[in-house]
Amino acid sequence: MKGLTVFLIFSMLLVMGLDCNAQSRDQYMDQAKQILEQVPLIDGHNDVPWQYRQRVDHRLDSIDFAQSTKDLNPPMHTDLPRLREGRVGGQFWSVYIPSSITGTEAVQETMAQIDFVYRMVDRFNDDLEMAYTADDVRRIFDEGKVASLIGMEGGHSINNSLAMLRMFYNMGARYMTITHNDHLDWADAASDDPEHYGLTEFGEEVIKEMNRLGMLVDLSHVSANTMRDALDATRAPVIFSHSSAKELVPHPRNVPDDVLHKVAENDGVVMITYVVSFVSNEMREYYAERSAYNARLNSLYPHDPDTRSEKRDQWDDENPMPLPDIEDVADHIDHVRDEIGVEYIGIGGDYDGITVLPEGLEDVTTYPDLFAELLSRGYTEEELKKIAGKNVLRVMDDVEEVARQMQDEMEASDVRIEDFD
Ligand SMILES: [Zn+2]
Repeated sequence: MKGLTVFLIFSMLLVMGLDCNAQSRDQYMDQAKQILEQVPLIDGHNDVPWQYRQRVDHRLDSIDFAQSTKDLNPPMHTDLPRLREGRVGGQFWSVYIPSSITGTEAVQETMAQIDFVYRMVDRFNDDLEMAYTADDVRRIFDEGKVASLIGMEGGHSINNSLAMLRMFYNMGARYMTITHNDHLDWADAASDDPEHYGLTEFGEEVIKEMNRLGMLVDLSHVSANTMRDALDATRAPVIFSHSSAKELVPHPRNVPDDVLHKVAENDGVVMITYVVSFVSNEMREYYAERSAYNARLNSLYPHDPDTRSEKRDQWDDENPMPLPDIEDVADHIDHVRDEIGVEYIGIGGDYDGITVLPEGLEDVTTYPDLFAELLSRGYTEEELKKIAGKNVLRVMDDVEEVARQMQDEMEASDVRIEDFD
């Protein structure tokens, strides 16, 4: 009898305990939103400037960013009301231009993108404010605005010139992704055939000058060998502004495990991205099948676009996209946490740079949903604050400190790419 009583009390305590721990999704959402009110959520990559460039020739009046951009055709993922709803505290606005644009035109086009960011921030200055340092981000977040940073996507923007690199820093650019999809004269990209098998000697000079300036070295888009060379060359921590884990999905844009370990030694941060073909193997297969089918149609029905488009629509109807969801993205975060720890993780959604998104992460309102998912997986509030923004702010602080040291030690480099021929 005594044994039975003990058993009953024990069972009751167990049930009560389970009840306390098993929070509902609503409770996790509330908790996630509270966390994002205490620390700035800093997203590594958003392509709103590109959307304005492509859709309306950079004309601010043509798309009202203060209203929902959801009903545009095609819809955008970002606008001021939705940034607020998603609790975004800091945003690296990408000033991307395609890597097919080269030479001085690349410099001019990148400047036009930067100009757009300033005009956007100026017009919506109740909600947005330019940030150049980690302390700027903290102050602007405390004022209740979205800290707006500039990220350059691709070294083609500097046209092989350290002078242009310095001028872009002076214009406010705070990271440069070393390449976009094509290799440069001084660095290999992930999505191109290898040419230099990493960074060239001039490429190492670019990294050094970025360290001296205090510009974040962004290794998204570069080849694995360029990642390794840049991590060997840099004196400051690096970022990946929008990449996921290669161990889970072997896309060349993702970060391999050996590089993750170098990132931990370097004290950098990998900002996990939502790009569906980086997040899900099924989506990689889907896209491969789809492009193979398109190649087949081109061969079977040359000069017959109507038949091709009819057959393509039929294929699309019969083959729905195997979209990944929040859990798939959280798996990448888990993987990096398991491999090197929570100190090296951030978020880089790539909103408005892509059209297809995982289910549940459709636009910038959904950051709290991802954090709710991580809470349900047992991440602590302190860990989530690091992932949201504290890790990136730590990297920015360190990069600024290294720049101060190097500026004491050396002047701007007058090295030219021709010196290395
Ligand atoms: Zn990109």
